[in-house]
Amino acid sequence: MRLLLVEDDRDMVSWLSLALKQSGFVTDLAPDARTAEALLAAGTRYDAIVLDLGLPDRHGFTVLSRLRDARDSTPVLLLTAQAALPDRVRGLNLGADDFLAKPFAIEELEARLTALIRRSHGHGHSRLECGSLAYDSENRGFSLGGQLMSVTPREHAALTALLMRAGSVVDKSQLSGKVFPQDSNVGPDAIELVLHRVRRKLAGSDVRVVTVRGLGYMLEKQAGAGDADA
Ligand code: CA
Repeated sequence: MRLLLVEDDRDMVSWLSLALKQSGFVTDLAPDARTAEALLAAGTRYDAIVLDLGLPDRHGFTVLSRLRDARDSTPVLLLTAQAALPDRVRGLNLGADDFLAKPFAIEELEARLTALIRRSHGHGHSRLECGSLAYDSENRGFSLGGQLMSVTPREHAALTALLMRAGSVVDKSQLSGKVFPQDSNVGPDAIELVLHRVRRKLAGSDVRVVTVRGLGYMLEKQAGAGDADA
């Protein structure tokens, strides 16, 4: 079983990785959010992620919410500094699967990880669809009419946000925040450029991105297209 351990405390990391290895887990280490996100973006599949909330570059909640925004359903166990109730509630709302307050016994971590992984293997991976456009959480890829689509990370973020709410309007600034999460200085036209490229890639299919003036954007299946054989 393969784990991603996202933790900046070196003593904790060396203790945990040794103990987890002895228990048969293969563990990749990330000392910060940036490294964790790079490992995840590289497409490595993990059976579970152990995520510390207090990371040097970003809060663990940010890592978690980006993961879930990207429709990645890998089980996440959060490590919290103390058993703070607000953290637990927030973490659950963001899609965490379990918590462990520091300090903890390695046996407890192992027991919880094993339970999490067992539960998650009981579920299939999720698939989102709108017309002939589909997103598969297993390989994190989009396909159009069964053909894998080649998209940039920004196009991926835009399509994910639109597909999750297909048929409803996604607010322009919200969408912009998902596509340019690091950059508060992007102009209002930046998102238009990304959507222009997304539209070109969807051209000729039964799905399109429509602009709803003053509100935002909406992914929809075009009436008539592909309905005949539905
Ligand atoms: Ca920490």
